[in-house]
Amino acid sequence: MDARIFNIQKYSIYDGPGIRTLVFFQGCPLRCLWCSNPEGKEARSRIMWNAGFCAHCGRCVAACAQGLHAIAGSPPRHEFREEAGEGRCEGCGACANACPERALALSGRRMSIDEIMAVVLEDRVFYQTSGGGLTLGGGEPLAQPEAAVALLTKAKAEGISTAVETCGHVPADTVARVAPLADLFLYDIKHMDSGRHKELTGRDNTVILENLKSLLASGAQVRVRMPLISGCNADLEEMRARAGFLQAWRDAPGFRGVDLLPYHKLGVHKYTQLGESYSLDEAAAVPAEFLEQAKALFEAAGLPVAVVRH
Ligand code: SF4
Ligand code: SF4
Repeated sequence: MDARIFNIQKYSIYDGPGIRTLVFFQGCPLRCLWCSNPEGKEARSRIMWNAGFCAHCGRCVAACAQGLHAIAGSPPRHEFREEAGEGRCEGCGACANACPERALALSGRRMSIDEIMAVVLEDRVFYQTSGGGLTLGGGEPLAQPEAAVALLTKAKAEGISTAVETCGHVPADTVARVAPLADLFLYDIKHMDSGRHKELTGRDNTVILENLKSLLASGAQVRVRMPLISGCNADLEEMRARAGFLQAWRDAPGFRGVDLLPYHKLGVHKYTQLGESYSLDEAAAVPAEFLEQAKALFEAAGLPVAVVRH
């Protein structure tokens, strides 16, 4: 069994309790405007080009059998297109291997579940001392359900605590299969209005909210996470709608509260490296005053809440 992975991040402290190893699954059904891991959106390997390192030497041109790299213009400069003519990037990595300046990186590869677990097990002692464990993130880990189930099953067999970060836009039977294997779900709410949700992420929220309700009704441990972006979803009316929705689940045995995640720009440079545009700007930042108001609003509704800054 393989999984398509684009990163394994050790010593993570934001993705569940304690010190965790975060495995990033590649491929996601949503296209959130603020996504900080754009290299994880599509279920295929991506070439990332760092212009600051490039010497425009042309070695990648010769290495790519698909003819996707070029040196052109005056002065001669490197150019890359993921598709050109008959060619399409196959994720072979030949160009990245040929680059003497490390200006190219191949993001995303297949790893066996055993290979991933070997990395996870390297830090078992940290999990034991901190109450941490393994977290599946992405991308969307449940978009690769067989791999997610296999990895979680192995982790449980090793006695390692498990968490799953999910956007929730996956089939209900996938959620039901994964629920007994996950000690904690970190579950996103991005907007309560289905039409606005679709504008911001490419999909409406129907499946997401139904899956969230099913999880909470089942007794699964769920911490709800809310990325907050000014101009998108950071307004008090929206916060009231969320608090109203969650109040019905306040006493559910597995409900673990709310994390408010204010907008950050940590992934913006990756859009440039992928040759993609990024539509948000400084105006997306969330004022401290709003965060205080939102926090107070959830507290007043009897919902445990924390602000988590990356
Ligand atoms: S091989 Fe590397 S340094 Fe040379 S042109 Fe290609 S990306 Fe730039
Ligand atoms: S990964 Fe392979 S196919 Fe894709 S651009 Fe590089 S050499 Fe070409």
